Amino acid sequence: MVEVTRRFKKGWMKLRIAEIVKETHDTKTFFFVDDEEGGRAFDYTAGQYLTFRFDELGQRPIARSYTMSSSPCEADYVAVTVKKIQGGQASSYFLDFSKVGDVLRARGPIGRFCYEPDKDKGHLAMVAAGSGVTPFVSMLREYANALGSPGTPQRMTLLVAYRSTQDLISWPVLTKCDKIAGVRLITTLSREQVPGFWSGRIDQALLEKAFAGEYSKTTFMTCGPQEMMDLTATFLREQGVPEAQIKMESYDN
Ligand SMILES: Cc1cc2nc3c(=O)[nH]c(=O)nc-3n(C[C@H](O)[C@H](O)[C@H](O)COP(=O)(O)OP(=O)(O)OC[C@H]3O[C@@H](n4cnc5c(N)ncnc54)[C@H](O)[C@@H]3O)c2cc1C
Repeated sequence: MVEVTRRFKKGWMKLRIAEIVKETHDTKTFFFVDDEEGGRAFDYTAGQYLTFRFDELGQRPIARSYTMSSSPCEADYVAVTVKKIQGGQASSYFLDFSKVGDVLRARGPIGRFCYEPDKDKGHLAMVAAGSGVTPFVSMLREYANALGSPGTPQRMTLLVAYRSTQDLISWPVLTKCDKIAGVRLITTLSREQVPGFWSGRIDQALLEKAFAGEYSKTTFMTCGPQEMMDLTATFLREQGVPEAQIKMESYDN
C-alpha cells in the first residue's frame, strides 16, 4: 500500500539546486535539496508536482509547475525535468541561466495524478508526448522494480511520442525499465523513421496497435499536449473504458 502524503513543509520552501543533468538539446533535469536542512525536503507520491515562484524574471512575479521526475523512494533529493519553451520565462531561466547552488522557492507536493492501488486496474498504461513523460518517469522509477507487490501495478506500459532521437527525454531510465519483466516501452517518433521505434504521432491507429484487447483491464493515464490527451480520452471512451479509468494531467498553468 503506497502511503498518502506524509512529511511536508507548509508554504514556500527554499530548494537548492544540487545537480543539473542535460537530457537533450532543450531539456535538463534539476536535482534539489532542502536549503536549510539538506536532503529531501518532503515526501510525495509519484505523479505529483511542485509550483515554483519566480519574483524577478519579469515585471511581475510568476508561478510555474513542474512534475517530479525522481522517485519518492529516492531519499536524498527531488528532481524535476524541464523542457525549454522558446521565449518561455521560467523554462528559459532553468535551461539557460540556473546553476548549481541557486536557491528557488517552491511549494508542494501538489496533485492527484497518481496510481491509486485501491481503485486502479492491475495494468497501468501511460500515454505521453514530449515533456509529458515526466510523471511516468517517476512512476516507472517507483514501481517497475516491485511490480505485483502491494500498492503497485502488476504491469506497466509506456507509450511515448518524441519528435526524433534528439528528443529522447529520460532515455537511460526508460530503456533500463524496459528490460524489467512486466514493463513495456513503446516509443514513437513523429518526425523521424528509425528502426526499433514506431513512427508517427499518437493517434487512434497507434493507440489501437498498442492497447488492443487491454481496455477492460487497464487504467490509462495521459500527459502531454491537450490535443493528444483529448484524442486519447475520446478513443478510450469509444472502446468502453470507464471515465474513472482515464486520467489526464494538463500542463497549462
Ligand atoms: C501540473 C503541471 C506540471 C508540469 N510539469 C512540467 C514538467 O515536468 N516539465 C516541463 O517542462 N513542463 C511542465 N509543465 C509546464 C510548465 O509549468 C510551464 O508551463 C512551461 O515550462 C512553460 O513555462 P515558461 O514560463 O517557460 O513559458 P511562458 O513564459 O509561460 O510561455 C511562453 C510562450 O510559450 C507558450 N507555451 C507555454 N507552455 C507551452 C508548452 N508546454 N508548449 C508549447 N508552448 C507553450 C505560451 O503560450 C507562451 O506563448 C507543467 C505544468 C503543469 C500545470
